[in-house]
Amino acid sequence: MSANDHIYNCYAPPPQEFVRGEGAYLYTESGEKYLDFIAGIAVNGLGHGHPSIVTAIKEQADKILHVSGMFRVPGQFELAEKYCAATFADKVFFTNSGAEAVETAIKTARRCQFVEGHEERYEILTCKGAFHGRTMATINAGGNPKYMEGFGPIMPGFTNLPFDDLDAIKNAVNENTAAVLLEPVQGEGGVRPLSVQFLKDVRSLCDEHGLLLIYDEVQCGAGRTGKLFAHQWADGAADPDVMAVAKGMGGGFPMGACLATERAAEGMVIGTHGSTYGGGPLAMAVGNAVFDELTDPALSANVVKVGNYLSQQFAALKDSHPDVVKEVRGKGLLCGMQLKKKALDVRNLARDNHLLVGNAGDNVLRMVPPLIITEEHVREAIEILDKVFTQAKEMDDFTH
Ligand SMILES: *Cc1c(COP(=O)(O)O)cnc(C)c1O
Repeated sequence: MSANDHIYNCYAPPPQEFVRGEGAYLYTESGEKYLDFIAGIAVNGLGHGHPSIVTAIKEQADKILHVSGMFRVPGQFELAEKYCAATFADKVFFTNSGAEAVETAIKTARRCQFVEGHEERYEILTCKGAFHGRTMATINAGGNPKYMEGFGPIMPGFTNLPFDDLDAIKNAVNENTAAVLLEPVQGEGGVRPLSVQFLKDVRSLCDEHGLLLIYDEVQCGAGRTGKLFAHQWADGAADPDVMAVAKGMGGGFPMGACLATERAAEGMVIGTHGSTYGGGPLAMAVGNAVFDELTDPALSANVVKVGNYLSQQFAALKDSHPDVVKEVRGKGLLCGMQLKKKALDVRNLARDNHLLVGNAGDNVLRMVPPLIITEEHVREAIEILDKVFTQAKEMDDFTH
């Protein structure tokens, strides 16, 4: 019996066991080194073993770990103030994960309609290819039939619409519509960015019909595209009313948050919501340390610079491997390539060559490296991918 036998079979991890990380590299017990371009699925934005995170955890662990939401946590006030100063938001609810942050966002939007006298407005319009988490509500919001099969009746209140289709959203709005929920850049769906213009148009549509605009920036936020949040490329012209954040905001420590305007959060009063662990002292110590690093202008400049370099290098790879690469996609350091060969197999081949990457819907090889990587790391990754794509040429073509 292997050690894995008592774990749910929801994942199929490879044999490598990583025991240590440093910057953009992971190491196995025997000291084998891997270049990490998946970063715990867009989580370890500051890389592995970042001194600010390590120090924050050690210092806080010596003081106090947990008190629950029943008591004041000064770190919460501090971090909420920082996020509100840096975004559209006035109010924050801290969670432990992305799915919980999205759940909070959905509840916040519906509750806002409710307290404003529109109890009938509960429906959330979402996009095909979306990923919002694995809880009951968030699988229904995501609308991926594979994630819903066998988990009981489809939950009412979510309408899944074609991606990047303003008319589809317009036509779907009715007297029951409460909100539109979008990822400014789809991650799991295949690294698909929405244009700034599209976000602005959806914002106007929401204003016109009294709908709330919810962004899920769990993956594309926390500095990943070169702004603290991806929608901020619209310079305030496409701000949401509610936003879910997680992954990179904790740099590896599990935490998330739902950000909202004063108006959107007005219904979320005592008794409407809660979380035993959310916003705990340890999470807040890390969250504050990570925020300070993420908002260092040198870091966002690095994401833009290295992100541009990476996409140029990807374009060159596409030119030299036309049989393997179909399309280069992404924004900043949330990037990928749609392949003509099976992305999952290419991902595994890359791992055999000591480069860790992910895959995403739509047969995409996904890369979400730490935001601290340099052009040197990119060259190392490209060299490996060049070799991998040469091998992949022999594989059968991907067919849907
Ligand atoms: C990962 C992800 C989630 C879910 O986050 P968890 O922490 O796994 O619950 C939600 N939305 C998006 C866009 C994500 O990428």
